[in-house]
Amino acid sequence: MSNEHEQKPDNRSSALSPEALGAVNMATAAAVKEAVAGVFAALGPMLKEISAANAMSPEKLGAVLREAGKDPKKEARDAAAIEREIREMLIWKEDEEQNRKLIQDRQDNCPHIDENGHSSVQLVHNFPDQHPRGICAHCQCLIHPKEWRIGAPTKEFPRGKPCLVNPHKNYMTVMQLQHRS
Ligand SMILES: [Zn+2]
Repeated sequence: MSNEHEQKPDNRSSALSPEALGAVNMATAAAVKEAVAGVFAALGPMLKEISAANAMSPEKLGAVLREAGKDPKKEARDAAAIEREIREMLIWKEDEEQNRKLIQDRQDNCPHIDENGHSSVQLVHNFPDQHPRGICAHCQCLIHPKEWRIGAPTKEFPRGKPCLVNPHKNYMTVMQLQHRS
């Protein structure tokens, strides 16, 4: 596996760099945040209308809506659709968080050793910083060295502040495998 890098020195398509991964993570997180903020911003005036509407009798509300040129039945459908959308989005976020925790637990508790007592970590060499990584065949955790990632954007770094992340707790295993190969 160690000569894989020599064979295709420019091939970075098989694994994203930490910088690219960091950027993708940041972009995804930002997009989700933006979507949620957008829905709530759009909902603000409607929520005011709804709380005012709650104080009205259905007849009065229907009359007010018709007066405003709105179809009361359609308005109710739209509000229900938005409410369902928000509910689904919150459930999806919760599921995602639970999945993330499950994967993290499995990776934290994995010995990264196969049934014969050998390391289940495979070396990966195609990162642009030239340092090898390891991937565990059981838990799929990426065992990384001290590496650069893209942090939260700041005024000074609108595209995200690059920050150095400490090596994975099992990085010594990767270094040992690298010496043996
Ligand atoms: Zn593992």
